[in-house]
Amino acid sequence: MTLLTVENLEAGYETGQVLFGVDLVVEESELVSLLGRNGAGKTTTLRSVAGAAEPTVLGGEITFGSEQLAGVAPYSIAQRGLSFVPEARRCFPRLTVRENIRLAINHASDPKDLETVLDFFPELSEMREKQARNMSGGEQQMLAIARALAANPQLMLLDEPFEGLAPYIVRRIEDIIAEINDQQGIAVLLVEQNVAAAVAVADRHYILDEGRIVESVSTTQLRENEEMRQRYLGV
Ligand code: ATP
Repeated sequence: MTLLTVENLEAGYETGQVLFGVDLVVEESELVSLLGRNGAGKTTTLRSVAGAAEPTVLGGEITFGSEQLAGVAPYSIAQRGLSFVPEARRCFPRLTVRENIRLAINHASDPKDLETVLDFFPELSEMREKQARNMSGGEQQMLAIARALAANPQLMLLDEPFEGLAPYIVRRIEDIIAEINDQQGIAVLLVEQNVAAAVAVADRHYILDEGRIVESVSTTQLRENEEMRQRYLGV
């Protein structure tokens, strides 16, 4: 069954339009990536779906399950089962791991319990009384994903989850995303510059170029098509 449908999405900022008719779908339990060069509009697409204050959605339709999301407030979108992990990995720096996850649990309409969440993150479980500000970038990214998982979503949106992380942490977070998807059946739409990591974790890939989806390909198709990778991704 289709979980998310984005049709002809147009969006932009005061400085100008960025998306010129984005079309994509995410099926239930699917793990999909959205790739593209710097400035292609990947973050803008995710933020439009999550209902963020910026960008402004200028046209098109965003359907989640059977509901229209356009004009729905972000907290309300989250309560309907869509969790967004922004690029900045927003955690509360002075709160501990446990307190950060607790807050996410308290704000959700049908949350998971703390231990179920921590089962996916043994590293965090061991540092549950540590303040987020004293954790590494990779640990903070895990905490941001743990907070999203606590809301018990049907779909997780991840904005560049691997950005700025050391290769061994990238592999660890790839594994966590795959496990959450596999064991909990949570669909994932992730935006990435790191094509290798996206290919390692997602089954299907959209390529965004200048605010439009130009390709929808399987991992095998992307691996075998160097010309496509060069043209749209520069790798
Ligand atoms: P990146 O990896 O660089 O974030 P991206 O594909 O995610 O790339 P977006 O962040 O969606 O791209 O940006 C698309 C365009 O929108 C860029 O030209 C960018 O400068 C512009 N843009 C992004 N955020 C804003 C903003 N808050 N105000 C004005 N313009 C913005």
